[in-house]
This record gives sequence, structure tokens and C-alpha cells, in this order.
Amino acid sequence: MVQENLKVVRDKIEAACSRSGRDYSDVTLISVSKTKPVELIMEAYNAGEREFGENKVQEIMEKYDKLPSDINWHLIGHLQRNKVKYIIDKVNMIHSVDSLRLAEEISKEAVKHGVHMDILLEVNVSEEESKFGFRCIELYDAVKEISNLPNVTIKGLMTIAPFVTNPEENREFFCDLRKLSVDIAEKNIDNVYMCELSMGMTGDYEVAIEEGATFVRVGTGIFGERNYKGE
Ligand SMILES: *Cc1c(COP(=O)(O)O)cnc(C)c1O
Repeated sequence: MVQENLKVVRDKIEAACSRSGRDYSDVTLISVSKTKPVELIMEAYNAGEREFGENKVQEIMEKYDKLPSDINWHLIGHLQRNKVKYIIDKVNMIHSVDSLRLAEEISKEAVKHGVHMDILLEVNVSEEESKFGFRCIELYDAVKEISNLPNVTIKGLMTIAPFVTNPEENREFFCDLRKLSVDIAEKNIDNVYMCELSMGMTGDYEVAIEEGATFVRVGTGIFGERNYKGE
């Protein structure tokens, strides 16, 4: 099932790329494997996927040693500062940096472990109260502060759009995130790269690609529905 689903998702990514005059290789699919067992993750791995996303530190810790070491792990969920130390040498990118204090902690742990961490700043472009992330107006000051921290590099921005039935409703938020990233790129801040836009999930990744996504985070569309409440 995973293999068939992946084919559908890849075809849709390709179609969205060609509709918007983009190169397929500019968009990286992240298979969001949260709540899913190692066996299912291996099906995606055997179908060629290497980029996987999890939203909980505990879950990455449990799965990490059971899976091949050439997987690139992306932390995409809210991260508590006291848990940074557990994943600092395991994940390739943290997409969900939502405060200066979290960025400082990531920097501190990266220095301690002698590693470097690429991060994305999460922006709450839709301004939903329930969501984590910087507000648009806070972003520039945060970028400037974080750019001075050792052993972390800002590679771009991330957003989680509202849950909607018509993905077109989220187009404006994806567009807003891209505009923000262009504005920040134009300031030419040292150690800040605005090359990545992590946006789009199962319900809306095609629209996100049309609006410039470089990472799409797809869970349900690959692994099927998750069996827990509160999703
Ligand atoms: C769960 C999750 C996803 C994937 O959601 P689907 O709708 O299942 O594709 C993407 N991004 C984040 C941050 C998530 O927590």
C-alpha cells in the first residue's frame, strides 16, 4: 500500500511542479511517519524514500536505532527546550523552531556535541491562536538574533496551514510565507539562507508546491490515517 501511495504522491508532486514551471528536483518529499511502525517506514524506505519526519522526540528516539542510518530525520513538531539534547545528533533539520530561547538551546547543545544544525523558523502566518510559531511581525528581529548563534544556520521558513477541506483556502498563507522569505532574503543577513520553504501536508501539498514549497510533509497520503484521537 505504501508503495502505491508513494507513486500517487510523487506523480502529484511532479504534476504540481510542471503546472508551476518548477523542477521536480527542487521539491523534497518528507514522509511523515509519526505513530507509524518501523515496518511501514521500511516499506517507504524500500521504495526509495530517505527523508522522514516525526513530531515527537520520544518517537524519534524509539525508531532511530531500528532503522537504517542513511535516513535523514526531520523534526517537524513543537520541541521543548529540555529535549533538544536527545535529538541534536540524530536529526538533520529542525523545522519547528518557534522561539529565540529554543534556538539558543539548539545552538548550545550543537556546540556541546560538536555538530551543526540546520533549522527552519516556524511562522504562524494564519495567526491561529492554537498554533506555535513566530508572528510575521516578530520574524525579522528573531532572524537577526538567531543568525548570531554558533553552530546553527537558518535555512528558511516553515508553516502549518489551517486544516481545511478546500486546499485553495490555504493558498494565501503559502503565498504569505514565500513573500516573508523573499523579504528576509533581501536583507542579506550573514549566516541566513532563505532557500527552503517547508509547507504543505496531505490535504494541500499541491497548492503549496505551486506557491514555492521546497519541502512538503506528507503523512496520511503515504501511510494512511493515524489511529489516535486529537489529530
Ligand atoms: C502530522 C504532520 C504532518 C503530516 O500531516 P498529514 O496531513 O498526515 O499529511 C505535516 N506536518 C506536521 C508538522 C505534522 O505534525
